[in-house]
Amino acid sequence: MTVELPGLFDLQVNGFAGIDFNAAGLTAERVAQALDRIRATGVTRCLPTLVTSPFERFAGNARVIAAMSTPAIAGIHMEGPYVSAEDGARGAHPRQHVQPASIDDFSRRQDAADGRIVLVTLAPEVAGAMRLVEHLAASGVRVAIGHTAATPQQIADAVAAGATLATHLGNGCAQMLPRHPNVIWELLAADALAASLIVDGHHLPPSTVKAMVRAKGADRTILVTDAVAAAGCAPGRYTMGGVACELGRDGRVSLVGTPYLAGSSLTLDRAIANTVRFTGLPLDAVIPMASTLPAGYIGTTTSGTVIADWDAEAAALHIRRVTA
Ligand SMILES: [Zn+2]
Repeated sequence: MTVELPGLFDLQVNGFAGIDFNAAGLTAERVAQALDRIRATGVTRCLPTLVTSPFERFAGNARVIAAMSTPAIAGIHMEGPYVSAEDGARGAHPRQHVQPASIDDFSRRQDAADGRIVLVTLAPEVAGAMRLVEHLAASGVRVAIGHTAATPQQIADAVAAGATLATHLGNGCAQMLPRHPNVIWELLAADALAASLIVDGHHLPPSTVKAMVRAKGADRTILVTDAVAAAGCAPGRYTMGGVACELGRDGRVSLVGTPYLAGSSLTLDRAIANTVRFTGLPLDAVIPMASTLPAGYIGTTTSGTVIADWDAEAAALHIRRVTA
């Protein structure tokens, strides 16, 4: 069956097709090349995501991305460096560059990005985080909670201060958690928070995706890829912001020598198909999670249209044409 979708919108992309947005020496040509390849998966707009790194690296790459005038870049997602230093919660973010939150530090980064940081993922328990959440919310920058070992109270405080999203819910937290209360239940239950999910079959088991989507509601669920340079590539070793990671034959991307996931090789068209398969929701109900909902979340719109074939039996979406 041929279907027409709005252009897909990805709030979290670290790189694609061998190009790492967090690498030293990033150029506009490299970013444009990656965006081109991402576009073939139906994504017409996205937030290139810059993770925890030394200030100079962040600033250099933010300048490159901010100077690009393509409408495919809807802003920058800054994930870290104000995240948990604990193993597990920290995920693939390098510990030596994790730091306390401060309005001054953020302002320097936002200046380097020419004001184009539209989403910040942080951990509420990090020193200075609460004041920064208030500052960001007041200045229109969206605040997401992620890579965190926060207590229920800290999460409630961050929500009260203006946080509105749980970044890749169910990931970026400790490997082992008390059954309840824990950070996942708190983020899931907070009605003021939408949730982004990485539905690649590796980050979350199918039943977890189903339960999370039901708990949050389809209108507050956002699909992201969290794709890294290895996405769209053959299995092998890659780097993400200078950190070695490995793409397995099964599509799983992990930190070399650890059980920790380091982003994904997911594409948003496959995320849609997986979500239909895992939740039992119809395609129509899932498409907004990867298009109009994330766009609306950061206060903008999708761009263009995507023509695709939908194989309902196999729950597979094949992108045929992407316009505008
Ligand atoms: Zn992350």
